[in-house]
Amino acid sequence: MENDLKTCNLVSVLNGVGDRRKMLLERISIRTIGDLLLHIPIRFLDRRFFTSVSDLQIGTDAVVVGTIIRVTKKRRGTKGPALTAVLADETGSVTLTFFSAGFPGSKLYDGLKIVACGSVESFKGYVIVHPELYFTDQDASAVKSPGMLPIYGLTAGLTQGFLRKLVSSAIPLVKNSLEDILPVHILESAGFETRFDVFKAAHTPDTPEEAKVARDLLALEELYLYKSLLVAIRERSNKEPGIPLKSLSLDKFQSTLPWPLTSAQLKVCDDVRMNLLGSSAMRRLIQGDVGSGKTVVAVFAAIVTALAGKTAVVLAPTAVLSAQHYASFLKLTGFFNVKVHLLTGGTSASGRSVIGQELREKPDSILIGTHAVLEDWVPLDKLALLIIDEQHRFGVSQREKLLSSQNPRPHVLVMSATPIPRTLAMTFYGDLDISVIDEMPPGRGSVETQIVQRSKRASVFEFIISRLQKKERVFLVYPLKEISEQSDLLDATTAYETVKNGPLAKFGTGLLHGSMPSAEKVDITNKFSRGEISVLVSTTVIEVGIDVPEATIMVISNAERFGLSQLHQLRGRVGRGGRKSWCFLVPGSGVSRAALERMNFLVSNANGFIIAEKDLQIRGPGQVLGTMQHGIPKFKVADLTIDSALLKKVNAMTPIELDELKIIMKNQKWRFPDMEFPM
Ligand code: ADP
Ligand code: MG
Repeated sequence: MENDLKTCNLVSVLNGVGDRRKMLLERISIRTIGDLLLHIPIRFLDRRFFTSVSDLQIGTDAVVVGTIIRVTKKRRGTKGPALTAVLADETGSVTLTFFSAGFPGSKLYDGLKIVACGSVESFKGYVIVHPELYFTDQDASAVKSPGMLPIYGLTAGLTQGFLRKLVSSAIPLVKNSLEDILPVHILESAGFETRFDVFKAAHTPDTPEEAKVARDLLALEELYLYKSLLVAIRERSNKEPGIPLKSLSLDKFQSTLPWPLTSAQLKVCDDVRMNLLGSSAMRRLIQGDVGSGKTVVAVFAAIVTALAGKTAVVLAPTAVLSAQHYASFLKLTGFFNVKVHLLTGGTSASGRSVIGQELREKPDSILIGTHAVLEDWVPLDKLALLIIDEQHRFGVSQREKLLSSQNPRPHVLVMSATPIPRTLAMTFYGDLDISVIDEMPPGRGSVETQIVQRSKRASVFEFIISRLQKKERVFLVYPLKEISEQSDLLDATTAYETVKNGPLAKFGTGLLHGSMPSAEKVDITNKFSRGEISVLVSTTVIEVGIDVPEATIMVISNAERFGLSQLHQLRGRVGRGGRKSWCFLVPGSGVSRAALERMNFLVSNANGFIIAEKDLQIRGPGQVLGTMQHGIPKFKVADLTIDSALLKKVNAMTPIELDELKIIMKNQKWRFPDMEFPM
C-alpha cells in the first residue's frame, strides 16, 4: 500500500532528523510521517498583517517590517540588555531587545531589512523583547508576511522552527496517498477538494478560519470512524447466530419477587426477553438512575439463562459492588434454586477450586464478580449471557475480544447508572440498543437537597446528630483523599481525624477511599451497612456500589468541585429505604455565582437525564463521559471537552459500511493509533 508506505515511513527519512532529534521526536509520540501529520498545532500566531510602527499597540502581538538603523551592544559594567537594535519604518521606530548577545541579535547591522515579530511592550518607547526575526533582502513593499504560524506541542531540545520545517517537508510526500474517510460532499462544503488539503490546512492554513475548519474535519473523521465502527460491530453481531433461550414468562418471574415490578421494569424486562428469544445475540444497554431498579432486570436475564442450562456472568467494577450484587441475586433468585457464585480477586484458592468444579458440574449457574471471573481457569464454555454493570470500566474492544472468543456469541447486557444524553449515547453506545428505566420504584423516600453556607454548618451538624439518634446513617463526602497544606480544601483523611475524635465518634465512624485495599473497602462498607459504623467519611468511591436503606443524610463538602451528574450519582446513595432523606451541598469559600447556580439546578431537579443534559451544556461531553471514560478510546485530534457540535454532526451522517471500514482500518492504522479495532 503506497499510502501506508508514506505515512508509515519513519521521520528519520526526512532531512534534519538524526539520532538525537529522532529520540526527541519520539518523546512527543512522533515516530512516523503519519504521527507528524497528526501532530496538529496547538494554536497559531496570526502573522499575516504588518503593523506600521505608528499603529503599534502595547500588549499586542505585532509584525513589523523595516530597516535596522542602530545596533547597540552593552558596554562592560553597565546594566541592561546585551544588545538592542532600532528598527524603523516610515512612521517611526521600535527597539528590539536581546538579553543575550548571540544569535539572532548578533546578525543585525545598520541598513539591514528585516521582519520582526513579537509582543509590543513599552519602555522609553516601543520595545519588542526577543523578537522572532525574518531576514529578507527585499524592499519592505515586496516582503511577504510570515502568515499563519503554527505553534506545536514540543519537548525540550526541539524548536518551533524545526518542527515547522519538518512538517512542511513531510506534507508534500503524502500528497497522492491520503484516502478519503469523510464523504466528499462534507469536504467540499467546508471548502476543501481533498483530504490532503485538509491536512495541509490544519498545519499551514491561510487564515485562522481555515485552520479551525480543517482541525474540525480531522476531529470529525475520528468521531465518524468510531461511530461507524460501533454500528458495524452491532450489525455484524445481528447477522451472527446467537443463543436463543426459551424464556420464562414475566408473570411467572414477577410472582417470585417481593414486590411487583414497576411498569418501566416490566417494559425493559420484556425488551430483554425478546432479545434472548431471538436468533441473534442481544446487545443492550440499560440506563436508569441510581435506585431505579436495574438489578432485577439483570436477575431476570440471568435466571432465563440458567433455566436454559447455560451460564450467566455478572461483571462488576469492584469487589464491593460484586458482593452487593451477590446478596441481591441470592435474594431475588431464591425461588428458582439457581446456584449463584461470587468470585473476586480476594477469593481464596480453595474457594476458586470449588467454584471451578461446581461450574463444570453445573454450568446452569450465575457467576458474579470482578475481572477475576474472566481468568482462563474459569470454565465458561456454556457462557450465554454477560452482564456488565457500569460500562465505564470495560472498553468496547475489551468486550469484543472476550465475546469473539466465544462461539456462538453470548448475549450482552450493559447496565449504566450514568444517564447519558442522547447525542452522546448515539455516538458512544452506537453498538447497543438502549432501554431506559425512567421510573423509580414506589416507597422510596424523597431526597431533599439543600445548599448550606459554611456559616450554617453547625445547624446541619445538630441535625445529623438528631438523625443518628434515630439510628439513621450519614455519608460525609470530600473531593479528595488527602491534600497538601496550602490548599483550603477539606479532604477525607483530615476530616476523618476530626470526626473520629469528636461528638460523632460514639455513633461509629469509618473512612473509605479509593486507594484502600479492596478487602478493607468491603469490610468498611459491610460495617456501614450493618450499622457498626453510622458515619462514613469518604471520597467519591461510594459513587458506585453502596446500597444502605438506613442512610438518610449525605453532606458533600466543596460541592462545587464536582460535576452535576456526579453530585446526582452521589446523592442517589441516600433515600434508598422508605425514609425521607437529605443531601447537603456545602460550597467551599469564595465559590462563584455560576457554581452556586449550578448547585441550585440540583436542588430543583431530580431527573438524571435532565441533569446530564445540563452537565453536557456546561462542561461538554468529555467531562460527562469522564465517569465512564475507560470505554472510550483516546482520540488524536477530537477533544470531547470542546467537540459537542461535532457529535451532532456525526450522528446525522450515514455510517461507513463494514467492508469499507475494514479497508480503512487496515490501510490507515497510522491515523487511529490509539484505537483498538475489534474487527
Ligand atoms: P439500581 O438501578 O441503582 O441498580 P437497584 O436495582 O439496586 O437499583 O434497586 C434499588 C432498590 O430498589 C433495591 O433496594 C431494590 O430492592 C428496590 N427495588 C427494585 N425494584 C423495585 C420494585 N419494583 N418495587 C420496590 N422496590 C424495588
Ligand atoms: Mg445497581
